[in-house]
Amino acid sequence: MKTINLLNYAQDGWYQASANLAEVRSAVSGEVIATTGSRGLDFKAMLDHARKVGGPALRRMTFHDRAWMLKDLGNAIMARKEELYELNYETGATRTDGWIDIEGGAGTLFSFSSKGRRELPNQRVLIDGQMEMLSKGGTFVGQHVFTSLQGVAVHINAFNFPVWGMLEKLGPTILAGVPAIVKPASATGYLAEAAFRIMIEANILPPGALQLIMGSTGDLLDHLTLQDVVSFTGSAQTAMKLQTHPVIARESVRFIAERDSLNASILGPDAGPGTPEFDLFVKEVVREMTVKAGQKCTAIRRAMAAAEHIDAVEEAIAARLAKVRIGDPRQEGVTMGALASRDQLRSVREAVAELSKSARIVAGDPDASPVEGNGSFIEPILLRSDDPWGSPAVHDVEPFGPVSTIMPYRDLDDAIALANRGMGSLALSLFTFDPRVAEDFVLGSGAYHGRMMILDRTSGKESTGHGSPLPVLVHGGPGRAGGGEEMGGVRGVTHYMQRTALQGSPALLSGIVKQWLPGAPKPEGEVHPFRKRISELEVGYTLKTASRTVTIEDIEHFAHFTGDTFYAHMDEEAAKASPIFEGRVAHGYLILSFAAGLFVEPAPGPVLANTGLENLRFQTPLYPGDSMRVELTVKSKSVRDEEKGEVRWAVYIFNQEDEAVASYDLLTMNQP
Ligand code: NAP
Repeated sequence: MKTINLLNYAQDGWYQASANLAEVRSAVSGEVIATTGSRGLDFKAMLDHARKVGGPALRRMTFHDRAWMLKDLGNAIMARKEELYELNYETGATRTDGWIDIEGGAGTLFSFSSKGRRELPNQRVLIDGQMEMLSKGGTFVGQHVFTSLQGVAVHINAFNFPVWGMLEKLGPTILAGVPAIVKPASATGYLAEAAFRIMIEANILPPGALQLIMGSTGDLLDHLTLQDVVSFTGSAQTAMKLQTHPVIARESVRFIAERDSLNASILGPDAGPGTPEFDLFVKEVVREMTVKAGQKCTAIRRAMAAAEHIDAVEEAIAARLAKVRIGDPRQEGVTMGALASRDQLRSVREAVAELSKSARIVAGDPDASPVEGNGSFIEPILLRSDDPWGSPAVHDVEPFGPVSTIMPYRDLDDAIALANRGMGSLALSLFTFDPRVAEDFVLGSGAYHGRMMILDRTSGKESTGHGSPLPVLVHGGPGRAGGGEEMGGVRGVTHYMQRTALQGSPALLSGIVKQWLPGAPKPEGEVHPFRKRISELEVGYTLKTASRTVTIEDIEHFAHFTGDTFYAHMDEEAAKASPIFEGRVAHGYLILSFAAGLFVEPAPGPVLANTGLENLRFQTPLYPGDSMRVELTVKSKSVRDEEKGEVRWAVYIFNQEDEAVASYDLLTMNQP
């Protein structure tokens, strides 16, 4: 393979380092496959460019505009994925490992794109929570909002998932409207650079939105400000070094850390040999040890079972490990490839040596070379510690390779305490069919783990696995795991935004958030709102209907027609005897139906369909003889595509005394 000359991407151009190029070797052959370096880059100018060019361009777009770009980026990666798979083999990863990295990375962009279009407004400001009433008269209110940070996201990534690791950070960052400077880990940077290049060549993002550093970050951190975010994935040691950087500390630069983690997997006391949970556990431990040759921050490092089951666990795991086929990941039938580099091989061997001072190796030989040549291959190593409280190393030393330690626990409390002894982890899994064990574990251990997967015979088949972070769930963990959080759907987007509590009049705040807030003006007009397209509808535009009286005949008719003969509608005595009603009342669903009858404009037109109700509350009962009227207000609107969009209407139903009977958000699909 020809040596690749890796380039930096700064201020919208490719840049060759001026000196000090480092060589990067193939994990499989040990040959030099790339040179890399960042000497000569003007890091301050890169930050300025992102702030002055990329940020403003991204912030001019809405969440939906940015979400569409993520979809295009994902498609660009998918269209050229085979180029990436070729390089993926050089990192020591099998095709299956590469699938997680490459297609999993693109999938993460798709997920953020879809979340962005479904859960975020087609606006630039994101509302956070309900409006807060701050005054008796309702003229002074509060509303939390998120706006995009005006700086740069600096992404420092680990070597193990060069594509996914880059994209899982870029998805939420771009969606938030923030430009990024990416610094991949050197050992596998050639794969990250190739994926980055695909995105640049696809020409989807505005100038200044993305830049790349292929080597040292030089004096970059010295120029960070309060508007910047550093999102770091890697070792605890580097995280600590960066986190205590004087500028990061002084400027309160946001720092998201995803560090190492001694993740635990626990076989429940109920799940002895012969149970489906036992088999699931054994399979998962072996899978986590061997996928990506165990180079996963979420991999199972500590596997625990009740003392009476530990021998059976050892035997079953060892038997499965014996079937693992180690070799060149390009070869068919190979189930585990190499570690990413010789450095990594050395560091895993050192970690195993440290662990074996207090635990014994029961499967695998760390010093064996399972594949001839200069690759970074190692056998999977299973250790056993029979005194886990007397062996601190098994809870403290992270062998970042195909290594796991099994250990017994005495009872459930002991298992919980051992799991928490990892001092904070990214992911924990528990294999039990006993709901009490599951509940006790979550209550006893939840505070120590970022994600908990509880598997049993009903979910085993469809499970996404102990070690798979998912874009819709948070990834991160307390303590040793870094205390950070990434992804988690929209939660991850807000890491790159500032939450601000706005105070003011409902009218003023409505104009800012582009959503009608209670108390804001409700202008009426000649034209029924159902006759207007989204582009013609003004937020706040209101229809006030005539009123109608609800009779006892209406209630009886509705009851018999629908079959809803609940006592409160049909039995005067029973209704009176209830602590809530003074007599028979109208059905809530009758009120909703009458409300629709009052506000609907029936002819075909811009409103295509009713797609749902949200936040429905019945506030005051409606008795026979009472009357009701409706106020229907455009709360917010969002165009999806050329054919349709969504209108959210605030619906308020009042009785003849102007008391609130019911309120809800009505959703309709409309023509744009
Ligand atoms: P590392 O040595 O800490 O490197 C991580 C990243 O930091 C690399 O891009 C590295 O660049 C960069 N870096 C190192 N020193 C730096 C400095 N002074 N200034 C700026 N950047 C610097 O970690 P690693 O050994 O490559 O990664 C393995 C570790 O990452 C394991 O402990 C694993 O548990 C953890 N990890 C955690 C997660 C998670 O999501 N929590 C995911 C994957 C891995 P160079 O490569 O150029 O040195």
